[in-house]
Amino acid sequence: MCLTPIQAIHDANVVIIGVGSEFGINIEAAVSQNSVYKTYIRWRKDKGFNHKEINEYIINSIYSHELSSGTNELILKHTDTYNKLFRGIKDKEYFVVTTCTDHIIYYSQFDKERITAPCGSVLRLQLSCVCDNGGNGISEGEEVLKNIYEKLESMGENIDPDVLSEMIPKCSECKAPLIFNIHGKNHYNERGYAEEWKRYTDWLQKTLNKNLVLLELGVDFNVPTVIRWPFEKIALINYKAALYRINAKLPQLPEEIGSKGFSINENSFEYINNNF
Ligand SMILES: [Zn+2]
Repeated sequence: MCLTPIQAIHDANVVIIGVGSEFGINIEAAVSQNSVYKTYIRWRKDKGFNHKEINEYIINSIYSHELSSGTNELILKHTDTYNKLFRGIKDKEYFVVTTCTDHIIYYSQFDKERITAPCGSVLRLQLSCVCDNGGNGISEGEEVLKNIYEKLESMGENIDPDVLSEMIPKCSECKAPLIFNIHGKNHYNERGYAEEWKRYTDWLQKTLNKNLVLLELGVDFNVPTVIRWPFEKIALINYKAALYRINAKLPQLPEEIGSKGFSINENSFEYINNNF
């Protein structure tokens, strides 16, 4: 008889969770009710403003504000879903690998030390050039985003893009503006997650031959080397592993996984909401 993920987790010692795009939030949808956003969108349309870089800083500054406010309904729905998932695994040894860059999981009950996000974060910045400014080229963006949000708020209808542009941090050598540290951009700087990734791979070594469940939630083929393929490999080489692939569009499992693989053809976000 085939166990549900909840039953399998109950019997397991170790749970490895892979979180994919089905859990990702649409940032513009998340900020759509914010009044600063509404004013900005009206202004952007009026002026035909289409500066991509400043636009991205503005949208992410509003998102950062909504994230830390703790009152955004769409964001809270995501946090609640992560918390349901957490309650289902909290008594187990676990680690979470996520391709989401929206940072919401860090606002849930999951232990931050047990999360790795190799695709980056909308709250983190990096150099866009190749200058050596010392350090690893990565910086936290929350303070900058907070300042931009407050400036926008104080500007009201009279948005001055030059003032906002000045607030974007620059490389101290060549003055190139910093960009968001997110996978898919040119020059994505992978050093932002190096430490947590090492923590994850070290931890993985110790899970070999334990009774383990791999819970893969809505992972697409965008970066298959982060979750999909490694999870299949872990399931293959571990005698006592079970891989649950929950996915609305891509639930297929390779044949060689055999009886260790379970495919659930549903949206994983809804599945966790309804079953955990
Ligand atoms: Zn530079």
